Amino acid sequence: MNRTGATVAVVGSLNMDIVVQAGRAPRLGETILGEAVHFIPGGKGANQAVAATRLGARSAMVGAVGRDSFGQMLRKSLIDQGVDDSGVRTSESETTGVASILLAEGDNSIIVVPGANGGLTPADVEGNRGLIEEADVLLLQLEIPMEAVEAAACLGRQAGKKVILNPAPARELPAGLLSDIDVITPNQSELELLTGISLDGEGLKAAMERLLERGAGRVVTTLGEDGTAILEPGADWIRLSGHRVKAVDTTGAGDAFNAGLACALAEGRTLPEAAAFANKAAALAVTRLGAQAGMPTREEVEGFQQ
Ligand code: ATP
Repeated sequence: MNRTGATVAVVGSLNMDIVVQAGRAPRLGETILGEAVHFIPGGKGANQAVAATRLGARSAMVGAVGRDSFGQMLRKSLIDQGVDDSGVRTSESETTGVASILLAEGDNSIIVVPGANGGLTPADVEGNRGLIEEADVLLLQLEIPMEAVEAAACLGRQAGKKVILNPAPARELPAGLLSDIDVITPNQSELELLTGISLDGEGLKAAMERLLERGAGRVVTTLGEDGTAILEPGADWIRLSGHRVKAVDTTGAGDAFNAGLACALAEGRTLPEAAAFANKAAALAVTRLGAQAGMPTREEVEGFQQ
């Protein structure tokens, strides 16, 4: 793997995705036979840490799992991918986070039980100060308690790191959090939810401006197959088109994008350059099945022509 020397710290979630395939969904109270079950390491935090490593950065994960076999499997999958798991705490009281995903009739229904992810505290963040201080970029999502996100963002900002917040799943942000964030990366529905502004017409730019007004340093909105939009203070906004690819599985597109952005910013690239790199990484990710398994390598991104 082409190591760039850039380092990314991720404070976030680890889940075991249990994917059950069945011919149809059961009615309430009914038992049916399914066709297959898959155990797939997931969680936005872990997905982004793995993706960052595959894209050439060194990455370290801060999070929590339970003392159970899923926890062991998730740790092993991080280690196998070269992610530093020393910041992952094993909870004695909570189970590993699980996403129970039923795939039936071409649709999915999902129940997420956060488990140990929900027990991540500011003290966990503080206890891993060294991992954050060693990193060039700190990458955050919203699948852990908000207090842990706030503590991490504050620590990252104080340590002079670039702090990226991927506000997924979207929820209201506490006042003050955005002033610790260098780059916020909502998708379209998250941007609408965070700002209350409909993205029709001039809405996209207005909503991104709203996040700057609320304190975010810069805004990168992901637009699915349409690519991405970038807004930096005092500059015209920039639109980068999406790459035309045959989409097989868009799960993890956002994770690939955020990891790509983090790696490229950690290497000192400008935001538009980093977004272009991320756009390629995410386009490659949608051509493959699986969130972590579908993450492209740096060589693949650099060799991607369009
Ligand atoms: P997900 O939740 O599915 O992981 P998301 O909703 O967080 O994704 P999107 O805006 O859908 O994020 O996609 C993130 C990025 O992935 C886009 O900015 C783009 O670069 C890339 N992407 C997504 N879908 C496609 C597609 N069909 N073709 C090409 N690129 C895509």
